Formats: sequence, structure tokens, C-alpha cells
Amino acid sequence: MRVGFVWAEEPEPEPELIRTCPVDGTHSFSNTWQAPRPDGRLHVGTDIMSEVGTRVVAIEDGYIETGVNPVGGNVIFLNADSGDRYYYAHLDEYVSILPTTHVRSGMYLGRVGASGNADPDWPHLHIERHVDGEPINPYETISEICDGRRERNLGLLARAIQQHEGFYPGSISYDNNNPGNLQSWSTQIGTSRGFAVFPTYEVGYNALRSLLRASCDNSWTLLQLMNSYAPASDNNDPYGYASILARTLGVTLDTPLDEIYCK
Ligand SMILES: [Zn+2]
Repeated sequence: MRVGFVWAEEPEPEPELIRTCPVDGTHSFSNTWQAPRPDGRLHVGTDIMSEVGTRVVAIEDGYIETGVNPVGGNVIFLNADSGDRYYYAHLDEYVSILPTTHVRSGMYLGRVGASGNADPDWPHLHIERHVDGEPINPYETISEICDGRRERNLGLLARAIQQHEGFYPGSISYDNNNPGNLQSWSTQIGTSRGFAVFPTYEVGYNALRSLLRASCDNSWTLLQLMNSYAPASDNNDPYGYASILARTLGVTLDTPLDEIYCK
């Protein structure tokens, strides 16, 4: 019997809107919607801080127009197929694409810079989202697509570790509600066979996530993380372990955690 097989008569799902984080690299941003600016204006976008030269890509499918103005510097308008219109500003450089060329979400459009009135010490992509001609706060959307990937990766990583730790009924990690086989953590209620015991699976799973998050202070690669998490001195194989995780996440052993789930 095939369980979960989708038969042809089931309705076709609606095509999903594909959005990509417009800054393809290490970045940070906060909600600065309507924050006062020195010239008396209110901020109507989100500033995604990143290094000069970081790749800037199309957030959605659509058509672009490029231009230059004193405030925005090198700018791009993206007229998305969804009907939304995006404005990208302060670019270091942008592609030359004909306005009749259809671009896909994720396609290279240019590089982060500090052109226009941006502070050269704080290069960033200023992005605005206009719906029905009115600017709306893009923060939620940006947050969802730019941080969402990292959240997803953190979940993937935690579950891959859980699997590798042999979490199944009857195992030590299962009996201890400790899918990461942590030796000690602040939320544990006891110790069994050298490992922390948690009151519920959720508490143990969140402890694993918290441990992974705490590792973000170290600027490690995935391999360095596993050298610490499962050191060879405890009869582990951190290289083999990290290799399995790298395959799960589609990254390499040398990928910095900042690009996987930190930041
Ligand atoms: Zn801005």
C-alpha cells in the first residue's frame, strides 16, 4: 500500500509565490519603519546592513528598471509579477538588463554599497515595498524570507543531530527526553547514564536548539561546531558527523555557522 500518495484527481495547489532574501550574504536589519531621518523625512523601508560587494538579488519574479538619483544613489525598481513594486537603493553597482527582460526571484541584480546619501561607514540595501502604489512596511516580509531560512536550517540541524544521536524508543536519548544527548544544561531535572534528563521532549529539544544558538558567539564553521559538540577525545567522529549534517543542509564542512543559522 502506498501511504501518502497523491492521486491525480486532487486539485492542483496554487502556484506558490517564490521570494528570496534580497541580500545574498551575511546581513542584519531591524524594524526602522517611520524612523525619523536627519532631513526630516520618515523612513519608509528596511535597511539591510551588509558589506560592500555582497550580492543583491531579485526578491520576486518581475521586471526591473535601473536608475540613479541623489538620495538613493544607484537604484533598482522591481515591478514584480505579484503586482507589488520594490525599490532598492544605495547599490554599489547593478546589472544592465533591458526593462523587457523577465527576471526570476533570486537572480543577481547588483551589489550592496553606500551610494547616494548612505553613510559610507554603513553600507546597506535600502528596500521599499509598494502595494497598490503605497509604501508598506517590508520588515515582516524581509524578516520571514531572510531569517526564515536560518530558522529552518536550525531546525534541520537539530533534527539531523537528533537522528544521528540515535533518538528512538528505548535509546538513552529517548528515555532522557534529550534528543541532543547533552551532558548538562540549565533546564535539566536530573542526570542518567552521564547525560542530562529533561522533563519533556520539548524542553530537551529546545535545550539542543539553545546550545546550537549559544555556539553562534564563536564564529565557527560547521566542522568546528562538531569538533566541540562531539569531540574525537570522547570517541566521536566529528568529521564524519559534520559531513552527514553538511549533506543534510546542502553546505560544506567549512561553511561558517553565520551562513547556516546564526545572525
Ligand atoms: Zn533606508
